[in-house]
Amino acid sequence: MQRPLAFDVDMVLHATTKYIGGHSDILGGAVIAREENEFFRNIREIQKSGGAVPSPFECWLVLRGIQTLPLRVRAQSENALQVADFLNNHSSVDKVHYPGLPTHPAHPLASVQMRLFGGMLSFEVKGDKEDAMRVTAKVKLITRATSLGGPESLIEHRASIEGPGTKTPENLLRLSVGLEHPDDLIDDLKQALTK
Ligand SMILES: *Cc1c(COP(=O)(O)O)cnc(C)c1O
Repeated sequence: MQRPLAFDVDMVLHATTKYIGGHSDILGGAVIAREENEFFRNIREIQKSGGAVPSPFECWLVLRGIQTLPLRVRAQSENALQVADFLNNHSSVDKVHYPGLPTHPAHPLASVQMRLFGGMLSFEVKGDKEDAMRVTAKVKLITRATSLGGPESLIEHRASIEGPGTKTPENLLRLSVGLEHPDDLIDDLKQALTK
């Protein structure tokens, strides 16, 4: 969705755990450097001596998953925009955080930097924590779980995950939009938001 190296950054850090693996079944990461400099050689050295090396099976799963990365991310982005649009017009939703929505304050900047806006969004349910919890308890197709970037849609009450002292609003739910049909996702959220 974005080419950070084209924006002059020195290094890109990926969790292959998420979209690159894409199937919620591995843990891994990747560092991509613009040039093979002293700093990068240090990272390689730390990896070598610290042993942060993925197993052959996990590498194979990443290679398998990455083949469908462009198609998955395109579909997840399209689904997320439809879901965000639905939530944005729902009377039980206070706010939707998704840079792909023209109403989002960072939409103009995101449009310059990104070709797609991704499958992640969050929204604030009208009311308090209990109201948000009620929505997560009622979804049927969407699964209540942390993590993101897999084929299945996941929802979580973010403040509970972050714990005491978090600045995340208590009525906020995070949604990782997966590869289900967008109408099914919208139907599920529609029934979950009905009091
Ligand atoms: C992201 C995530 C992790 C950690 O993966 P990283 O590769 O360190 O980002 C572990 N468990 C869950 C459920 C996650 O969503």
